[in-house]
Amino acid sequence: MTFEYSPAPESKSIVKIDKEYGHFINGKFVKGKNHFATINPATEEILSRVANGDRGDIDKAVAAAQIAYSKVWSKLSGAERGKYLYRIARILQERAREFAVLETLDNGKPIRETRDTDIPLVAAHFFYHAGWADKLDYVGLGKSPKSYGVVGQIIPWNFPLLMLAWKIAPALAAGNTVVLKPAETTPLTALLFAEVCQQAELPAGVVNIVTGAGETGAALVNHPGIAKIAFTGSTEVGKAIARAIADSKKVATLELGGKGANIVFEDAAIDQAVEGIVNGIFFNQGHVCCAGSRLLVQENIADEVVKKLQNRMEKIRVGDPMDKNTDLGAINSKAQLDKIKDLAAAGSKEGGEIWSPKCNLPQNGFWFAPTIFTGVTQAHRIAREEIFGPILSILTFRTPSEAIEKANNTPFGLSAGIWSEKGSKVLWAAGQLRAGVIWANTFNKFDPASPFGGYKESGWGREGGRHGLTGYLKAGK
Ligand code: NAP
Ligand code: MG
Repeated sequence: MTFEYSPAPESKSIVKIDKEYGHFINGKFVKGKNHFATINPATEEILSRVANGDRGDIDKAVAAAQIAYSKVWSKLSGAERGKYLYRIARILQERAREFAVLETLDNGKPIRETRDTDIPLVAAHFFYHAGWADKLDYVGLGKSPKSYGVVGQIIPWNFPLLMLAWKIAPALAAGNTVVLKPAETTPLTALLFAEVCQQAELPAGVVNIVTGAGETGAALVNHPGIAKIAFTGSTEVGKAIARAIADSKKVATLELGGKGANIVFEDAAIDQAVEGIVNGIFFNQGHVCCAGSRLLVQENIADEVVKKLQNRMEKIRVGDPMDKNTDLGAINSKAQLDKIKDLAAAGSKEGGEIWSPKCNLPQNGFWFAPTIFTGVTQAHRIAREEIFGPILSILTFRTPSEAIEKANNTPFGLSAGIWSEKGSKVLWAAGQLRAGVIWANTFNKFDPASPFGGYKESGWGREGGRHGLTGYLKAGK
């Protein structure tokens, strides 16, 4: 017997969205010159119009951040800075429902995820870094490590407010001031965060937010008043940033793309592994840099794993992201949907076998059904390139060393998963894998105390934990 689900929509009325937004500079919203629309990708409805920042806006924001740094923020004690961060964390918790709804509307991800994952982790990042602000002597850089000054921060659209928290919380705890550019398609929660800064009475200019597209980001990277760049996004843009700052004194942290291997050994608990595979690739529509997008399954259990995975995928609920029962929401933009479709077509053309469960995709908006490809080889584009969508490429292996060789055969090195009941095998495999984050018998677990980052083309530096904080500090004397 199966039960039908009734719709369980979250209410939109909890958020107030203005028709138009300017930039947040020096503690105030200032009018923009040109504006572009940000839409709800689940309906294609225009939510608001936000300002398209140019070099002049970046100049003003950097000037405000420089004054706030030299006159106010760098003069406060760590304990005082911590008080502001605690205040921001508490306000974020108080307004969590509002943030969750706004994030779901602007991004298309399910309310269940914004409510239970994104926003609680955002608050946790501010609480965690608030605790560090007066303990920087213990970060590992000697006594009295120094902040950089003004940090330029550029974030992607897949976890808009969470990426903002990963950037702003450690930067402020370490004593820097910031100018942040959110992604073009998901600026609204960053602008609501600006209101939180006002509510927390954060000194003007400590946080500045300039909205816009890639060119706005490039203007921030190239501004001479920036001491450090912190970027999360694609490997392509990360490389462009590294080139742009190569002959300057600027330093950078780059969190880039991935093609994570999720390895299932023959002795794994299979039902548990199937849950981990689903979480690894279908969480957040697969718009996850550390997604387990390459499944490596031992050949003798492959048929069983694929069958159980297909049964489980039949139960994934795709549709209205505002419905509390939804598992898989909308793809964030038409451009991203086109990229996913292109790679799926390449997968079929190159000989992979595609499978999706039956699902009724909504008429409007951008949608892609949860999908797996079997019969994938290492030469296939879908085994090598980041799809950043709900598509899993399945490869098999015969021996543990073959699994490791295949897992490491990638220019990326962000994440990996290991499924085995044998502790010794898990530890052996973890030691061999060239990935920054490795989960064993679980996947996609995040904590502000745990450093996150990549090897090879997945990036430079770490975010989170003590290691992440050292990216915002120079060694003391
Ligand atoms: P993206 O195109 O690189 O964009 C990231 C950010 O950079 C956006 O704010 C973007 O603005 C801006 N930007 C674009 N061109 C720029 C330029 N020339 N100079 C400076 N800034 C520029 O990446 P995306 O497609 O939005 O995000 C997906 C990628 O992010 C994936 O590859 C994913 O793996 C990676 N990611 C990595 C992590 C990690 O921690 N390692 C986490 C999440 C995502 P617009 O929005 O206007 O394009
Ligand atoms: Mg949007």
